[in-house]
Amino acid sequence: MTKLDNHYQLYINGDWRPGSKGQVMQSDNPANNKPWASFDCAGQDDIDLAVQSARSVLNKGFWKTCTATDRGKLLYKLADLIEDNAEKIGTVETHDSGKLLAETVSQTKYVADYYRYFAGMADKVEGATLPIDKKDMHVYTTHQPIGVVAAIVPWNAQMFLTATKLAPALAAGCSVILKASEIAPCALFELAKLMEKAGFPKGVVSVITGDAENCSAPLTSHPDIDRIAFTGGTETAKKIIQNSSNNFAATNLELGGKSPLIIFEDADLESAANGIIAGNFGASGQSCVAGSRVIVHQSIAKDLLKLIQEKSQSIQVGNPLKQETNLGPLCTPKQIEIIEITIKKSVEQGGEIIFGGKKIEGEGNYFEPTLIHCPTHNIETLKVEMFGPVISFIEFEKEEQAIEIANDSKYGLGSGLFTNDLARAHRVSQEIKAGICWINTYRAISPIAPFGGFNQSGYAREAGKQSILDYTRTKTTWINISDDPMKNPFVMR
Ligand code: NAD
Repeated sequence: MTKLDNHYQLYINGDWRPGSKGQVMQSDNPANNKPWASFDCAGQDDIDLAVQSARSVLNKGFWKTCTATDRGKLLYKLADLIEDNAEKIGTVETHDSGKLLAETVSQTKYVADYYRYFAGMADKVEGATLPIDKKDMHVYTTHQPIGVVAAIVPWNAQMFLTATKLAPALAAGCSVILKASEIAPCALFELAKLMEKAGFPKGVVSVITGDAENCSAPLTSHPDIDRIAFTGGTETAKKIIQNSSNNFAATNLELGGKSPLIIFEDADLESAANGIIAGNFGASGQSCVAGSRVIVHQSIAKDLLKLIQEKSQSIQVGNPLKQETNLGPLCTPKQIEIIEITIKKSVEQGGEIIFGGKKIEGEGNYFEPTLIHCPTHNIETLKVEMFGPVISFIEFEKEEQAIEIANDSKYGLGSGLFTNDLARAHRVSQEIKAGICWINTYRAISPIAPFGGFNQSGYAREAGKQSILDYTRTKTTWINISDDPMKNPFVMR
């Protein structure tokens, strides 16, 4: 492919450089399907260089010798720069991925707080002195940086998903190779410019992109990677687990979802309808926590359907750069094909399209806000992660049945319920097999709250104070504090 005027190079070891294989890709603007930027792709030699430089900063120089407080100060600087440049980054991300400008800008501003949260935590990762069960022994633990981290993110919420990896990794003293999605990588190259400006030493963070075969697979199989922090699809995660058999890298996996959203008969319908819209049409449904299985008590199903339909009619579909737009394009034409195939099969199985169901003709990857009524829980649309504005609506009669339908999924990332019954809210929340449960709200996130899934939605938790420990390993140090020399070497002490 040819380079466009708006071209991004790879950022490796503090230098901007073309890929060693000469491979160039283009990014199409999802709002009009026209190429708007091009970028270099990394191959094995680039990855070797990035890993080598990431290793070298751990062995010598400022990154090895600085204090945790110094690392925190750099992260605070980066946070301010991200906030100051949110408009620029948001605009690039919107051109690249089709996400609404209103969302990319506000999310980028908020993401600065993730860097601040972990900046403050950098010098609070404490070891312990152990009350050991042996005389004359002083034993303590320290948390050392785990080493070189490969952080791999998808295109759909890249500033957020990068922050949940990069911020704790850097706070803990690791070095990072950040692999941006080849579908929409440009915002992360803008982030690299800010890392440079903040004063992170060369090699502490490299930002690359490329396809699965030439870039992602060699990176995750590289023998000198210590941790892989991955967000993306379940099938890709399976390959990553296999790749990590080459390096024994510990892995964080944040994967897909098909999240249940239960609406009980006593719920505030207005609030529930807003939760359903937020959970399905927010980010055009391209959210790993989309509450796309809407499970509704049969006594309120008709009224709720009517309300959702009314609200959906006033959704402004259009140019993601415009402030008044509510629903932008989907990132790729391929996603539309997947949605069309799934809807077709669902209708054959007895699903009924209540509204929407079609691609919007014309330029750009636009799809109508859609609701499919599912008479049984075997309908395809209740199973497949659509990554688009499609609600699957199913009714229940009893609480146990709602829980059963909610748990009938290979995934377990987000979940939600709307009810005014306090006891039921807590009871049902504990029964749902998912890493997150929102009650009378939906799609809220925070650096303070752990985020992650059960089952095929992955393992490990990002954000929250425990997550920094994923980027460390525990060292136990034993000191003999008696003056007596060691005695019998054949007896375990
Ligand atoms: P994807 O799995 O296709 O790609 C994600 C990343 O993995 C990209 O950078 C890609 O280049 C890379 N990759 C592809 N093949 C690889 C391989 N063999 N080895 C290593 N890396 C490889 O996912 P996508 O389509 O870009 O993103 C959508 C998916 O991400 C959805 O399933 C969505 O639910 C999930 N997601 C999860 C979360 C979460 O936090 N749980 C958040 C956002 C998105």
